[in-house]
Amino acid sequence: MFTFVIMMKIQSWYQAHFRSELSGRYICNDHIIPLLDSARDFVRVEDIGSSENGLPIHSVKLGTGPTKVLGWSQMHGNESTTTKALFDLLKMMLQKEVLQEEIKAFLGNYTFVFVPILNPDGALAYTRENANGIDLNRDAMALSQLESRVLSELIDEVQPDFCLNLHDQRTIYGTEEGKPATVSFLAPAADPDRNVTSARKLAMEQIVRMRNRLELLIPGQVARYDDSFNINCVGDRCSKAGIPTILFEAGHFPGDYERENTRELIFYAFLTFFGITDGHQAVAEYKEYFLIPENRVNYKDVIIRNVRVEGYPEVVSVAIQYKEILLNGKISFESIVDTIGDLDDCFAHNENDGNKGIALLNYQEKAGIGEKILTIITKNSQNTLFDSRDLW
Ligand SMILES: [Zn+2]
Repeated sequence: MFTFVIMMKIQSWYQAHFRSELSGRYICNDHIIPLLDSARDFVRVEDIGSSENGLPIHSVKLGTGPTKVLGWSQMHGNESTTTKALFDLLKMMLQKEVLQEEIKAFLGNYTFVFVPILNPDGALAYTRENANGIDLNRDAMALSQLESRVLSELIDEVQPDFCLNLHDQRTIYGTEEGKPATVSFLAPAADPDRNVTSARKLAMEQIVRMRNRLELLIPGQVARYDDSFNINCVGDRCSKAGIPTILFEAGHFPGDYERENTRELIFYAFLTFFGITDGHQAVAEYKEYFLIPENRVNYKDVIIRNVRVEGYPEVVSVAIQYKEILLNGKISFESIVDTIGDLDDCFAHNENDGNKGIALLNYQEKAGIGEKILTIITKNSQNTLFDSRDLW
């Protein structure tokens, strides 16, 4: 089938059938266990260990092919977008209506083992770190935490030909061109000199393939993560061990704070990685990896430009960042004053212009950095420049 026709089929399947039981930012074991239980009759689901607080960690095995791929998601508990995409992938692989030829090829070519939530304690508490406050992605050498040891043992057992290290990134990342970094990739360095080893080349080729696919959907919004070497990061350690490894960073798509659009894009990236979108026909040159724009820290959630604020002699901009708060099993967003000053070098996912008027932050002329903000209005005309109830 032509790539174009396959993509059309995949997209129309996705719109109607994605795993809608999983939605929003808060995904923990309670959400995925029913889905894993219902999949047990069709795929191998295993309990591969426990977290520091005794919650189970699961793996899912798809396919019986010679190329072994190992993926893990929610190593950082509050990074759930790739978990949602993994369950979309699982659902697609188990359906019997469309793309049966491609799915059969995938199941015959690959053995894909994935850990949907590596850090279930962090997922439950909606924290990056595990229950002991340890960042598991800095624990690759020490292996001081149960979760780190579960992953390390799984890597030894599976002996993967590829590792997929699945994460979310914050809304602060963009490209030099001023596009948000909606999806970023990294082929982690294998040494401090960042030599392009044969394992890295393979990872880079795959990243270029996925980037070329996503570029059609989100032009300019695929970026490349910083590749400075840190042996304590799991991806770097895998790379050093000669395993081609790809870091996925699911980022911000305009207006999509629930990360449902990004989840769909990650799903397409997975299908491209596994050759389902094109039957592995699209070849890629690893050197193109270096043409992918680098991730820059140049985005704010909201910028109110061109206002006067007491305590600042010049006309300034006010930046607001949304802070994710777990409340009654859902993530809500608090608006926090991030920066007041010259923000000409920064882009914003949403912005407004105060026309040099005096701004009232929370009905006062002054508000400090780090304060929670409800509204910004102009003093004279009472125009609303920002309202925290609108999550743009
Ligand atoms: Zn992460």
